Amino acid sequence: MTFKSLGIIDPILKALDAKGYTDPTPVQEQSIPILLNGNDLLGCAQTGTGKTAAFAIPIIQQLYLNKHQDSKGRRKVRALIVTPTRELAIQIGENFTTYAKHTGIENTVIFGGVKQHSQVKRLRAGVDVLVATPGRLLDLMNQGFISLKDVEYSVLDEADHMLDMGFIHDIKKIIAKLPHKRQSLFFSATMPPEIVKLSGKILGNPQKVTIEPEKTTAEKVEQSIYFVSKKSKIKLLIHLIQENKVNTAIAFSRTKHGANKIVKQLQKAGITSAAIHGNKSQGARQLALSNFKKGELKVLVATDIAARGIDVSELEYVFNYDLPNIPETYVHRIGRTGRANASGTAISFCDSEERPYLKDIEKLIGERIPKIDEHPFVDDNEEVSSTPKKQQNNRSQKSSNRPRKDNNPEKKRENPYSRKRRIARENSRSSE
Ligand code: AMP
Repeated sequence: MTFKSLGIIDPILKALDAKGYTDPTPVQEQSIPILLNGNDLLGCAQTGTGKTAAFAIPIIQQLYLNKHQDSKGRRKVRALIVTPTRELAIQIGENFTTYAKHTGIENTVIFGGVKQHSQVKRLRAGVDVLVATPGRLLDLMNQGFISLKDVEYSVLDEADHMLDMGFIHDIKKIIAKLPHKRQSLFFSATMPPEIVKLSGKILGNPQKVTIEPEKTTAEKVEQSIYFVSKKSKIKLLIHLIQENKVNTAIAFSRTKHGANKIVKQLQKAGITSAAIHGNKSQGARQLALSNFKKGELKVLVATDIAARGIDVSELEYVFNYDLPNIPETYVHRIGRTGRANASGTAISFCDSEERPYLKDIEKLIGERIPKIDEHPFVDDNEEVSSTPKKQQNNRSQKSSNRPRKDNNPEKKRENPYSRKRRIARENSRSSE
C-alpha cells in the first residue's frame, strides 16, 4: 500500500516524499479512504501511530480540491482541530504546515498561557485550518475573533485526555457552535464509557478504526519494574542513567515540585536535564524541548499533562519515576518510546505506596512487568514481603505480613478506578 494508491494528490505526495514517509502506517491506511469518502470517523489510536497525518492529509486534500474564499478573498476557518495541550497543538500545526507545503492551505495554532495579540492578528488575516486548545478557542470565540460557521471538518483529538483534564464542558460549548453539516473526526487512545457517550454526541454514523490496542503497544516496549523506597528513587535513577549510558530519556514525575527536585539532583550528578510542567512558561517548555531534541539535554523530567504530545523520535528510555495512579497513563507514557519501528525501554519505580497502582497497570496490560531484583537500592520492605522465610525469622508469628489495619496506606488511598469514575462524574456534573 502506498499513499498514491490511497488516492493522495501529487502536491501532498511531494511533501510526504520530502518528509521521508514511504508507506502509510496502519491508522493512515485505514482512515484515509474513510475520510476521503466523506464519512465520520471514530479512531481508537494513540500518539505515535501516525494518527495526525491520518486526519491531516485527507483534510488538506479535501480543502485543496474544494478551494473557496469569501468575496474579499479572505480565508475562512474550514477545518478545526481541538486538542488538549499546547505542545500537541503546536505539533499538529507543524504537521499541517509540512503536508500542505505545496497546496497553499494555511493553518494557525492557538493556545492559552501566552498573549492573544499575535494569535488574533493571524486569525484576522484568514486561515483555512485552525488548531486550538479548548480554553483559548472558547475565549477568542466569545470575544468575536473566531467564527466556526464555515467549519466543514472538525477533529477532536485525544478525547480521553480532554475528559481527564476537565475540558468536557468547553468541548460541549464548542461543538454546539459547529455547523450541523460537517465531517467529524474523533480520536481517543482509550474508549471508556464516558468517551463512547461523548463520541455519540459528536459523530453522525461513524466508521471505526482501532489501531494498536493499548496492550500491544505495551508489548513493543521492553519493560521492567524496580521496587525501591521513595527516598532512594533519585539514586536509582542516576545509577541507571549512568550505567545504561542513557542519551535520551523522559522521566515522569507525579508533581511539578517533584519534577523540579529531580532535575536539581540530576544536574548535581552531571546529567543534563530540564523540567517541563504547567508552572513553566510556554517559552521555557519549548526551549527545553528543542534543546532535548538537539541532544543538548539527556533527560526531560515531565508531568503527564506537560508531556502529552511530545514527539521525540528515537527516544530510548521512559522512566516512570512515580507510577501513575491511572493505569492507562502508564501505556501513554511508555508509548513515548518504541515508536514506529524503534524499540524502546520503559523502566518503572514502585515504592511501597504505589503497589496498588502496579496491580492495576498489570491488569490493564494483561501481563506481569518483569521485576529487577538485583540493584543497589533494593527496597528493604519489599525484600521482607517477597521472601516469607526471612520475614518469619525477622518477625514474630503474630506480626504477620499483613499491614496493620489503622496504618495501612492502601486503605487511605482512593481506588484508581473509583477516582476515574469520580473525575468523570465531576466533569459531567460541571457540564450541566
Ligand atoms: P503521531 O501519531 O501523529 O504523533 O505520529 C508519530 C510519528 O510518526 C511522527 O513523528 C510522524 O512524523 C511519524 N509518521 C507519521 N506517519 C508516518 C509515515 N507514514 N511514515 C513514517 N513516519 C510517519
